[in-house]
Amino acid sequence: MTSQWSLVSPSTALYQNFKSLSPESTFSPSSSLPQIVFQLKTIGKERSVVIQVMENDLNLVLSSVSAISDEEAAARAAAVSADSGAPTIFDKIISKEIPSTIVYEDEAVLAFRDISPQAPVHVLVIPKLRDVLTELGKAEKRHEEILGRLLYAAKIVAEKEGIIDGFRVVVNSGPSACQSVYHLHLHVLGGRQMKWPPG
Ligand code: 5GP
Repeated sequence: MTSQWSLVSPSTALYQNFKSLSPESTFSPSSSLPQIVFQLKTIGKERSVVIQVMENDLNLVLSSVSAISDEEAAARAAAVSADSGAPTIFDKIISKEIPSTIVYEDEAVLAFRDISPQAPVHVLVIPKLRDVLTELGKAEKRHEEILGRLLYAAKIVAEKEGIIDGFRVVVNSGPSACQSVYHLHLHVLGGRQMKWPPG
């Protein structure tokens, strides 16, 4: 996909404009100018778009919008800005700026339904404070408590969702595992027979 965009405002409006592409889509500007990686998610589909931004007086001109449709490439694109400290879509979910269906919440943990469920039950469990936990691979000794809380929250979610007899907890860490959002999260999946090995 290649297209041309012209905008007359800085990055917030750029974000809003892009969001208007589809009412089902959410967007996460995850690095600073001049290159912005948007994670573009639609129901049942995921892709990232890398947008080159050039400054032209007060106007921003977006050019070379290229979509990466395969999920490995999308994961690599997301990883590029993982350590930038930029907020992810999950920050907006925590702040309730973006709506989500919350299944469980306490002072440290939030659990909400995945926008693109891979099983009848698919809930994401995240720490409310990301700290440096963009991915599990970044965990340090001091994170033992929150990691335990996340796992215990996954069990509470499984109970609440009626899948305690059989469920799967998955953590994708890093581009080789196809992680796409760089805020540590556990996937809690269930409600159907799971297969092994996973893809
Ligand atoms: P990962 O690929 O990083 O392991 O998982 C990220 C998950 O976040 C994906 O399963 C994706 O569907 C989910 N996700 C991404 N954006 C949103 C969103 O805006 N809302 C919700 N509820 N889930 C999202």
